[in-house]
Amino acid sequence: MRAAKKLRPDWWDPTGARHGGLPTYWWRGAPDGLMTRRQLRAAGLRPGGQDIAAQVVWRRRRRVQVAYLYRVDLAKPKRLVTTAQLIALDRAIAARRTCPTCRVVRGYCIPLSLGECVGCAYPDATEHDAAPDSLLERQAA
Ligand SMILES: [Zn+2]
Repeated sequence: MRAAKKLRPDWWDPTGARHGGLPTYWWRGAPDGLMTRRQLRAAGLRPGGQDIAAQVVWRRRRRVQVAYLYRVDLAKPKRLVTTAQLIALDRAIAARRTCPTCRVVRGYCIPLSLGECVGCAYPDATEHDAAPDSLLERQAA
């Protein structure tokens, strides 16, 4: 532990004795099996409600930085989109596709430049675009 001795004791506390039980490691000194939230996300995982398992501490421009680590073995796969989220998304999309002038839900987002659907902006142009299936219907199919 010669290398660790040179570190400030605050930065090397694997048992967490000096950090209220939270194991503390020097940056890059953390054991395998622990990841930051960002690293988990990059690996397609999320903490999944587990408590913070440890923290890493490092210095950057004279300021001490802390990142929390989570156990990879307790992490869960990224949550799939829920039905409620799909409904909300459908509503948001429908709102953007609804023409404020004629109230018709179009198959495209109402162009901000026009402020209304193409049919209203250019009444002479022929149009045959029905609104597509909702995301929910598409998922069920
Ligand atoms: Zn319209």
